[in-house]
Amino acid sequence: MTKWAYNFGGGTAEGETGLKNLLGGKGANLAEMANLGLPVPPGFTLTTEVCTAFYDNNQSYPEELTDQVEASLAKLERETGKGFGDKANPLLVSVRSGARASMPGMMDTVLNLGLNDDTAEGLAKLSGDRRFALDSYRRFITMYSNVVLGMHHHTFEDILDTYKDDRGYRLDTELTADDWASLISDYKSAVKKALGEDFPQDPKAQLWGAIDAVFGSWMNDRAKVYRRLQDIPASWGTAVNVQAMVFGNMGDTSATGVAFTRDPSTGKKAYYGEFLINAQGEDVVAGIRTPQTLTKIAREEMGDLEPSMEEALPEVYAQLAAVFDDLEKHYRDMQDIEFTVERGKLWMLQTRTGKRTARAALKIAVDMASEGMISEDEAVMRVEPGSLDQLLHPTLDPDAPRDVIATGLPASPGAAIGVVVFSSDEAEMRAKGGEKVILVRVETSPEDIHGMHAAQAIVTARGGMTSHAAVVARGMGRPCVSGAGDIRIDYATQQFTAAGRVVRAGDTVTVDGSSGQVLAGEAKMIQPEMSGEFATLMAWADRARTLKVRTNAETPLDVQTAKDFGAEGIGLCRTEHMFFEASRLGYFREMILAEDEQGRRAALDKILPVQRDDFAAIFRIMGDLPCTIRLLDPPLHEFLPHSEYDVKAVSEATGLSVGALMARAEELHETNPMLGHRGCRLGISYPEIYEMQARAILEAQVVVGKETGTMPIAEIMIPLISSAKELEILAGKIAAVAAQIDGEPQYIIGTMIELPRAALRAADIAKTAEFFSFGTNDLTQTTFGLSRDDSGRFLPDYVAQGIMEKDPFVTLDQEGVGDLIQIAAERGRSTRKDLKMGICGEHGGDPASIEFCHRAGLSYVSCSPYRVPIARLAAGQAAINSI
Ligand code: ADP
Ligand code: MG
Ligand code: MG
Repeated sequence: MTKWAYNFGGGTAEGETGLKNLLGGKGANLAEMANLGLPVPPGFTLTTEVCTAFYDNNQSYPEELTDQVEASLAKLERETGKGFGDKANPLLVSVRSGARASMPGMMDTVLNLGLNDDTAEGLAKLSGDRRFALDSYRRFITMYSNVVLGMHHHTFEDILDTYKDDRGYRLDTELTADDWASLISDYKSAVKKALGEDFPQDPKAQLWGAIDAVFGSWMNDRAKVYRRLQDIPASWGTAVNVQAMVFGNMGDTSATGVAFTRDPSTGKKAYYGEFLINAQGEDVVAGIRTPQTLTKIAREEMGDLEPSMEEALPEVYAQLAAVFDDLEKHYRDMQDIEFTVERGKLWMLQTRTGKRTARAALKIAVDMASEGMISEDEAVMRVEPGSLDQLLHPTLDPDAPRDVIATGLPASPGAAIGVVVFSSDEAEMRAKGGEKVILVRVETSPEDIHGMHAAQAIVTARGGMTSHAAVVARGMGRPCVSGAGDIRIDYATQQFTAAGRVVRAGDTVTVDGSSGQVLAGEAKMIQPEMSGEFATLMAWADRARTLKVRTNAETPLDVQTAKDFGAEGIGLCRTEHMFFEASRLGYFREMILAEDEQGRRAALDKILPVQRDDFAAIFRIMGDLPCTIRLLDPPLHEFLPHSEYDVKAVSEATGLSVGALMARAEELHETNPMLGHRGCRLGISYPEIYEMQARAILEAQVVVGKETGTMPIAEIMIPLISSAKELEILAGKIAAVAAQIDGEPQYIIGTMIELPRAALRAADIAKTAEFFSFGTNDLTQTTFGLSRDDSGRFLPDYVAQGIMEKDPFVTLDQEGVGDLIQIAAERGRSTRKDLKMGICGEHGGDPASIEFCHRAGLSYVSCSPYRVPIARLAAGQAAINSI
């Protein structure tokens, strides 16, 4: 018989440790903490297999589930010495979801379940605190009605607010037991009115209602969106945890809090967290009251007046700190923890590996390796390569003037500029239209995930460092300022005021998540640099990797940036980009418009010195690192004017009639330019173009070689080869040019493999080619017969229906395109053992594709300058993974 329910508590837990797939993250860690002897309220976990079975069988539960739940509940009653539904001594539980991967805020938790009119009075007697008992009951009605019965929580908040206003109360803590009793009756009436049924009084019915709601929420829209964004398969399912309640709302020696064992924002080795005295569960995260700091140091740093936990509850704090250390040692990683103190006794409610910013991930990984907790290779594996993106973008210039409108908490670092929007739907809509937006909200909730994702940065008026906005923003790598208390947001008029200034929707602001400031307008940014832990971790990754990392770059600025980021050469220098600059475009157009070869050569002669200077500049920066330079690739019509206005301007500049220009454009027009007269086909028709380019490259090489004493390494690359013959002919022309140049230019010649035929004929092509560079953008287009620019219309359907797992232009299609790469590599090497091979498509910066390149035995990957560090780390991880 399948075991659907696993018990935990009292120093032990059923099942082996590490059953994360079966028990979900939360359940597995509760079991693990119980096994470690930490104080965990007892309970049981319904497995993720229940969820899977539920959805596989028409939303019905496995037959034995009821009996197993009964048995576990009975065991829980024995363990706690309380009875579920027992009027005199009631057992209360929380019902909590928990998927394999943590999905913060996605699934809703119900606390205090088991309370009804009778057990609430029982709890009152038992605790000697009627106010506490009724406070718990009203919380339960609110949560249950919202999560399980689908009522809006505003209904209850409105009733409460009105009640408080009528009686002149400001804080919830001012309400007496009788006040709560009266509110509970109002709440119940509201439920009856909305649903036509009484609020359920039977604890068993409550329990099953909550279990249904958790399993049901696995398929709600928020959960679906989150899974899509995070690549979590729907088949994983969620577990349900049923756990005995402990109470942080039993007076001044009770509290609830959340903590990280290290600072999740900076990575600093310091306990980090917030707590609230006399509060329950979500109160800290929800931002209803402003929480107090955990440590004395943090309180002093923030200039907080309320005592820290270290000061208010010193004994429990010391115990908690010891638990932090135990947990870090056990999990060997930074932990994110939830705890509750009930009348001076500490209870652990959750631990999980903490989400962190990229900066913190780097620091924590390097620190833990230095502390000897993990190895250097493990440290390299701990940082997600893509997350480095956060650190590779400009930050605010510390020396530039700042026009600060408001200041809040530095909840998630980084800076961003954008226009203010006040709703998540609008954020998404405007971002789709290409605008950069800043989402400004009083506070955020799980309904805002899509807007936060679309936004460059998030600002909230309320909430602490562990508020929903802060946690989610850090996870997504979005800068965030939370709890900017001086901001007054008016959603109705779509504006906010702060420090007497008005900011309207659509106004531009700059958000600095590192300092917690919101600035008016566009502030000045500076380029990032790699130092400290970043540099250390990169050095460890470099030591591990065997793949080289080059860059795709052609402007001196990009080339320099890439080199500073550690690029070990240029994998793709696209020469046509050099022609698009206004000063050269004229000559190039003259060449295209020339009547005959003589005319073309005359125009090319004017371009030669300019190109030579371009290449010289690149060679100077790259020194003795190899530079792969691709000869002209796109079809010529791309260089001709399109609009009437441009045609006129070109006509005036060149002296050619508008008619002649239009006629030439008409001549060059192609039905399917991607597969048309481009790449080496241009070189075959107009060899003088390639001859000029080869001359420019080799002359620049000789010049820079003389000037610096180091001969630049030139690799001339011919695009779009499909047969060996094409390459032979063009290589011959280039050799003839080289022979005419003084100073003994040195180069190797190679090709891009971007057509399936080239991959298949690689053995022949390698007779001439000394290197292959896989142009995986075009190779993907030509392998699938799929135009990248048109694929946007249907590719999402393909991904949604599971025909393709991922967009093949983002992550290399290893089965098809990868197979061609492997065939080409094998066949190429059969002819030329030392054939150099690399990849220069967009995939060169994608970690999964880099892993493939490592396995395929390529020599290097080449990517855009800002992705170079990402590729270095991914290549290091690929090497470590394959040990
Ligand atoms: P989430 O995944 O959204 O954090 P949780 O299931 O962890 O949801 O619970 C929400 C809040 O309720 C947390 O603050 C948690 O510590 C608290 N909580 C959950 N179960 C209990 C319990 N048995 N006793 C007291 N507090 C609880
Ligand atoms: Mg939690
Ligand atoms: Mg191409």
